[in-house]
Amino acid sequence: MTGRVFLVGAGPGDPGLLTLRAAELIASADVIALDALVSEEIVSRIPLHVEVLLTGKRAGTHAMPQEEINALLVAEARKGKRVVRLKGGDPFVFGRGGEEAMALTAAGVPVEVVPGISSAIAGPAYAGIPVTHRSCATSLTIVTAHESDASTGIAWRALAASNGTLVFLMGLGNLSLVTRKLMEHGMPAQTAAAVISKATTPEQQVVTATLDTIERAAADACIEAPALIVVGNVVTLRDAIVLERSEP
Ligand code: SAH
Repeated sequence: MTGRVFLVGAGPGDPGLLTLRAAELIASADVIALDALVSEEIVSRIPLHVEVLLTGKRAGTHAMPQEEINALLVAEARKGKRVVRLKGGDPFVFGRGGEEAMALTAAGVPVEVVPGISSAIAGPAYAGIPVTHRSCATSLTIVTAHESDASTGIAWRALAASNGTLVFLMGLGNLSLVTRKLMEHGMPAQTAAAVISKATTPEQQVVTATLDTIERAAADACIEAPALIVVGNVVTLRDAIVLERSEP
């Protein structure tokens, strides 16, 4: 009997942001194939009897090539197992969930998807930045700052002219490239920008500045990956929003 693969979003880190469905599947899985971005607090909820396969870069291990991950998911499902492919955020937001779903479909393995809360939205929210706001952003664009060989290319000119909110993922190493490209394509240097690191976890760090100063500010604060870059006027709303968080 063929098993099944569940492509599950674990959210950005805070276990309170797991969906009920994700929590149920974590508790009932035979195997969990774990992405590097799943937070320690969520990993610690995996029952001891569940087999855990590490596919992402974690202390002392290398990231597995995507083809190997696809083959592993197919092989585990063919053993008749309930396989949970657990990813940070949402599986289809720069999570290569599409590639895995296509490989599983091609292999005839049943696949279910469980969307997760993306760091692109929850990260700014926990930092007190609403990603849209009627008076300062009518659009939200989520962009990769890390282009692969298969990339369709980043439309810098359109991004620089968007007048909306831009959220860059995988951008910390490319922060200077991102800010330079936007300014080269006409975005004002004074546009507000933020870097949010380890969003929704106890180590969350937020730095705000402007497009021309954010790189320096992030370096001064020793910001570490994973981090999001938010560009746009919504960043300034943070000064007027104070959020409280009570214990769960
Ligand atoms: N599927 C994920 C994104 C995967 S791409 C999602 O929907 O959130 C990996 C990038 O996501 C990281 O380089 C970083 O830019 C961002 N990211 C993921 N989790 C994050 C977190 N807790 N804090 C800040 N950035 C995060």
